[in-house]
Amino acid sequence: MKKIALLAGGKLELRYPEDEIALQDGMVKVHVSACGICGSDLALLSGKRDVSKELYFGHEFSGVVTEVSKGSVKIEPGMRVASEVSRTCGTCWYCLNGLSEYCRSLNDAITPGGFTEYTLARSTPDYSFLSPVPDAIDDVTAALMEPTNCAYQIAMKANIKPGDNVVVYGLGAMGIIAAIILRHLGAGAIICVGRRPARQEKARQTGIFDAVVGNDEAGMAVIREICGEHGADVVIEATGTPSVLSQAMTTARYGGRVVAASVYHGTIPEFDPLPIFRRELTIVGAKGPGAFLRTDGSSAVVHMMSLMKDDLAKIIRVYDFKDALQAFEDAKSGEAIKAVIKF
Ligand SMILES: [Zn+2]
Ligand SMILES: [Zn+2]
Repeated sequence: MKKIALLAGGKLELRYPEDEIALQDGMVKVHVSACGICGSDLALLSGKRDVSKELYFGHEFSGVVTEVSKGSVKIEPGMRVASEVSRTCGTCWYCLNGLSEYCRSLNDAITPGGFTEYTLARSTPDYSFLSPVPDAIDDVTAALMEPTNCAYQIAMKANIKPGDNVVVYGLGAMGIIAAIILRHLGAGAIICVGRRPARQEKARQTGIFDAVVGNDEAGMAVIREICGEHGADVVIEATGTPSVLSQAMTTARYGGRVVAASVYHGTIPEFDPLPIFRRELTIVGAKGPGAFLRTDGSSAVVHMMSLMKDDLAKIIRVYDFKDALQAFEDAKSGEAIKAVIKF
């Protein structure tokens, strides 16, 4: 069996353990086909998240079900699946208040995670962390179901009207996938802002955006030229840098909307809240994943993935298992927008 082991101190090692993981009650076993590297995986490596508190490594995977335990519903051996919450209990406080994505901790849903050739995923009558994958979506694209679902949440929170101009801060997978969805929803111009020139060039090459600019005066001038002097209707902050959230507030027009769509580590020194009042901004959080998937595979996110798979392909870089350490390096450096490892 192949495994990417995460060791203390942010070290990675390729391992080939003899034993396959044994099936547990309430879980199904998945033979992992591909697993994507998420920003939160990199946060584990860099020590921004505590490895000792995490029970899994890799949550963006696709694969084939090989074994199911008693009580798993609608999931059968041989089924192609992707990871993501698709059924919740319906009776807890979160579920009853329209926040079913908070129903249960991910720590309880997968073990040891998608960076191992075989992983367990929870599937019971009151919770499932697997969604069926239609034939039209290949294994590598299917590994993006979780981030696409998170980006869908961002797009929903952006709440755009047809023709709205959108500025996206951040040239990572999350901002770009959200932008692709917003395009399908009828956004007007979509401008992406990124700090690193190499990333800007990569984003430009995808041809997805009306403009890709730097986070500087020249970039702001392009934004004003396209959106008008008052700024963008909707601004999405997907860099994870707290100070950029302040900046996003100055890029939005009067009455505009700012979506805070990142995991922030740190605070904003001398945060100026006045623009929220003076310019009547709406600031809204978007913490993916949302509760959009269904266990029968019929959800809007799955349909969207079929529609946008050509655009998704433009941001994916595929690595064989033997090159997994390089994949993590490239994800860290930004060389790969979305690195996906094939098992
Ligand atoms: Zn993720
Ligand atoms: Zn619940």
